[in-house]
Amino acid sequence: VVVVVGVVGAGRERRLRGEADREASRAEALRELAEGIAETEAGEPAGIPDLAAAAARAVSEADSAGVVQFSLDALRELATVGAENGSSEVVRGLLEEVGAAGAPVRSDADGTVIAATPVRVDDETWGAIWVVGASAGAADPTAAAHVLGIGLSNLHRRAELRVQARTDALTGLANRRSYMEQLRREVALAKRRERPLSVAMLDIDHFKAVNDEFGHPAGDHTLAELAARLVAVARASDLLARVGGEEFAWLMPDTGLAEAWQAAERARRAISARPMPGGVGTVTISLGVADRSGADGAEELYANADAALYAAKSAGRDLVAVHEPERDVVARRAVQRAEAADAAAAIGRQLGWDDARVTALRSAATADTPLAPPGPTARVLRWDGGPKGEHPRGDEIPEEARVIAVADAWAALVGAGGEDPEDRARALAEMHAASGTAFWAEAVDALARVESSRHIPSA
Ligand code: GH3
Ligand code: MG
Ligand code: MG
Repeated sequence: VVVVVGVVGAGRERRLRGEADREASRAEALRELAEGIAETEAGEPAGIPDLAAAAARAVSEADSAGVVQFSLDALRELATVGAENGSSEVVRGLLEEVGAAGAPVRSDADGTVIAATPVRVDDETWGAIWVVGASAGAADPTAAAHVLGIGLSNLHRRAELRVQARTDALTGLANRRSYMEQLRREVALAKRRERPLSVAMLDIDHFKAVNDEFGHPAGDHTLAELAARLVAVARASDLLARVGGEEFAWLMPDTGLAEAWQAAERARRAISARPMPGGVGTVTISLGVADRSGADGAEELYANADAALYAAKSAGRDLVAVHEPERDVVARRAVQRAEAADAAAAIGRQLGWDDARVTALRSAATADTPLAPPGPTARVLRWDGGPKGEHPRGDEIPEEARVIAVADAWAALVGAGGEDPEDRARALAEMHAASGTAFWAEAVDALARVESSRHIPSA
């Protein structure tokens, strides 16, 4: 009797120890899954479904197991481990039930246990884990589904936090921190690849008055609308950021100074073309543009565009100003001035002016003599006087100054664009677009005639 009891006792103990070992290896499988998720970078959950399938199989002592995701109207098989090469018809049928009901489903027809449990992520049925061929008692992928669901929810949250940390909530644009990071990366890349790179800084003109008159919430709406219009003008490869209360920065990879100037002009017009919603009326922006040729690094490039923005503000607002690199400022200015002087003289001749007048015009353009008292030089004078009418406008501006303003903008546009006919045509289109507002229309038309005569092949 004693012997028999001893044998029974040993058998029971073995069974218990076996049960404890199995429990330990189930816990181990789930721990491995949890660890695997914890080590995953947000947004790259590639290996996780395999870990989850393996854990579900181990926990259920199943022949095979798998993870599927319910996406729109389809079942996506993300992972399968064990005997089955993908899920069978029967399994798929059960999974569809799980998807529809959002609850676990189990079947043990023909002595084969199939169990499937939904995986819930952020309170929604994200997918399911299934196991097949498990011994009836252990078949339960619930624990693995829980761990997977919690893990994926946390990954989503981490990814969201990362996006939030780089985004400005009011406009949806990048924030200053992520702009500077990206700018550093792009400057380094452009240097290595010897590619152009330009940036623009922009600031709303007299924005304080908008807040004072219409209230801060209306001001905020204006900021959001302005951001949307900038996005519509920018390229997909550009980066737009809100870097201050009503200051924005615009990164333009692979873009030379002339092209950046044109993009900035388009943005300026897109803002002033239509009134802002909420009765705020028309607002204008000033922009400063710089390219990497005048800067040693990202910070200097940023500062250069900022300095140009400051120049646009002092020159009257609703303007684009281009930074001129200080290091070769003399050479560059000299070349650009010479080009502007040539263009001015050609326009003057086209307008039928006599030789004496053209010569005087050329020297005024070369020296940038202030032609229109008080203050502003010809280069910043606008035909429409600027947004606030602070400067002389229309007929108040001497014809020479009107021509120099056109010639100077033209030299800035084609100076960097060079001889490429397409660049020149684009630049001319920009000049036409501002004809009658920034520029005297007659001078732009004369410039167009000069430009078209350039292309007539000489005999
Ligand atoms: P200007 O730039 O043409 O020199 O004039 P400004 O009136 O725009 O002057 P400044 O750029 O110095 O002033 C910024 C103003 O923008 C101050 C504040 O009233 C407004 N502002 C800044 N951040 C926000 C914001 O987040 N929301 C709103 N509604 N207004 C802001
Ligand atoms: Mg400001
Ligand atoms: Mg401002």
